[in-house]
Amino acid sequence: MKKQSRKVVIAGNWKMNKTRPEAAELAKQLADVAKAPNVEVVVCVPFTNLETVVNEFSLAAVKVGAQNVHFAKSGAFTGEISTDMLCELGVQYVIIGHSERRQYFGETDATVNSRTKAALDAGLTPLMCIGELLEEREAGITEEVLARQTKLAFAGFTAEEVCKTVIAYEPVWAIGTGKTATAAQAGEACGFIRGVVAKLYGADVADAVTIQYGGSMNAQNAAELLAQEDVDGGLIGGASLVAEDFKAIIKAAVDGN
Ligand code: PEP
Repeated sequence: MKKQSRKVVIAGNWKMNKTRPEAAELAKQLADVAKAPNVEVVVCVPFTNLETVVNEFSLAAVKVGAQNVHFAKSGAFTGEISTDMLCELGVQYVIIGHSERRQYFGETDATVNSRTKAALDAGLTPLMCIGELLEEREAGITEEVLARQTKLAFAGFTAEEVCKTVIAYEPVWAIGTGKTATAAQAGEACGFIRGVVAKLYGADVADAVTIQYGGSMNAQNAAELLAQEDVDGGLIGGASLVAEDFKAIIKAAVDGN
């Protein structure tokens, strides 16, 4: 399958930013994003903004995502949110295993696996994040890390489940640092991850799965990153908080598709 036949996903990650009025304002500025064949636009917002943003986008082409979800259906998990809670609100995507969750909140490959499975079971599309630390890249073990994270994230998954998952390759050293992987580095790592999926599930599954790049993607570098054969979209933090910049990235994806 050629790059052109894979779904491109441009997803904003608002992280812990925006009160409800601020979220409504940014959503209003994005509501005129046009529907484009094969390019899905998503914004992943704090839990407190989900309802506001779902309402703002009720007639828009933009989909809404959360930034985490628990693996249990319900119960004594103070501070957590279930898949049912997200689905009932009209949420369609969820980020899982973001490096900030791994770094600050004890997320592991095992919890990434459980949360991704729960999301898929509920009909949510997981944006499942993997990526190496700077010291891992410098030690020459990037591929080892990516292979391990991919294998553990998908342990016990069917081919169909893998196809429904969006993989976000996010080198940790490039997130929120202003340091972007070069287009070649991003393309190489996404291609390597696709190769790991191919070994585990076969070439058809690997060819079909969407693999995003994330890490300081912006209006200036998006076109070059998105043009890479194995890069099928972006997970965008900082630049997704400015409507003009996020729209420029969406345009780069649409124009390049
Ligand atoms: C992210 O939050 O996933 C991200 C890639 O952030 P930034 O674009 O700010 O590096």
